[in-house]
Amino acid sequence: MQKIKQVMVIGSGQMGSGIAQVLAQAGYKVFLNDIKEEFVTRGIEKIQTQLQRQVDKERLTQAELDDTMANIIPSTDYAQAKEVELVVEAATENRELKLNIFRQLDDIAPEETILATNTSSLSITEIAAVTKRPNKVVGMHFFNPVPVMKLLEINIGLTTDADTVDAIKAVGESLNKTIVEVKDSPGFVVNRILIPMINEAIFVLSEGISTAQEIDNAMKAGANHLIGPLALADLIGLDVTLSIMEVLYEGFKDSKYRPAPLLVKHVEAGLLGRKTGKGFYDYSK
Ligand code: NAD
Repeated sequence: MQKIKQVMVIGSGQMGSGIAQVLAQAGYKVFLNDIKEEFVTRGIEKIQTQLQRQVDKERLTQAELDDTMANIIPSTDYAQAKEVELVVEAATENRELKLNIFRQLDDIAPEETILATNTSSLSITEIAAVTKRPNKVVGMHFFNPVPVMKLLEINIGLTTDADTVDAIKAVGESLNKTIVEVKDSPGFVVNRILIPMINEAIFVLSEGISTAQEIDNAMKAGANHLIGPLALADLIGLDVTLSIMEVLYEGFKDSKYRPAPLLVKHVEAGLLGRKTGKGFYDYSK
């Protein structure tokens, strides 16, 4: 099994910066890549701010912060993929965009390099098929915020080989993540179960069975959930919630995954949850 020491993270947004942070903290050298230098800088500043907060709370030493930051190398050039044993792609969720990134990386990265994707909804098997190393393409599905959420779903494509899975498992273990192996399938495990539950809560709301607050209280007090499904939908973003339902609906062609019309209406109205100030709850005050 190949020893992974240097990693390139593609996309320095919400997820990419979090992934780069946990890798750098665990001692990997990380090239953090994005299409523009200012995006990379923003990602690196976000990591710095996160770590500074930990130092202020005395959960981390200044030396640990400095070591972590020294492990992160800004990048706007895929050519640096020549130097890594693993690429973790966390660019915008768009099929064509991701397929293009994988075609390019496949040409640049050494043939032993593993190409992983953090996609939430695309087929690992399809992404693998555009490369000449389909056995070395795998899903590494982190959860948001990456430094806080324990889970790492290893999403295994039809062509992913056992060595690749073992190498990713070793990386996940070095990050202290809880690892779950999942066969490539729409929604993988967490989203397949979680998002239809949220969708059902929206049906319950739209049928007037209970209010948003009461539905959330019921699930917190009755099912021991830390957050109610509607508040969680607002946190995830209603556009993201809808697009995952659509992936499940399309992927399985099963009417049980039809998106709730009230969810569709919220997205049409631009009421996307916390990020727009209003979803099932009002955050504007
Ligand atoms: P984001 O919009 O915050 O970040 C995406 C970044 O990718 C942007 O900075 C963008 O400039 C960059 N990018 C776009 N095209 C690129 C390219 N060709 N090369 C390099 N960088 C490029 O998005 P995000 O929320 O971080 O999501 C990234 C991925 O992670 C998506 O596949 C998403 O499905 C997945 N994901 C997101 C979450 C979440 O809760 N946000 C959770 C799990 C997985």
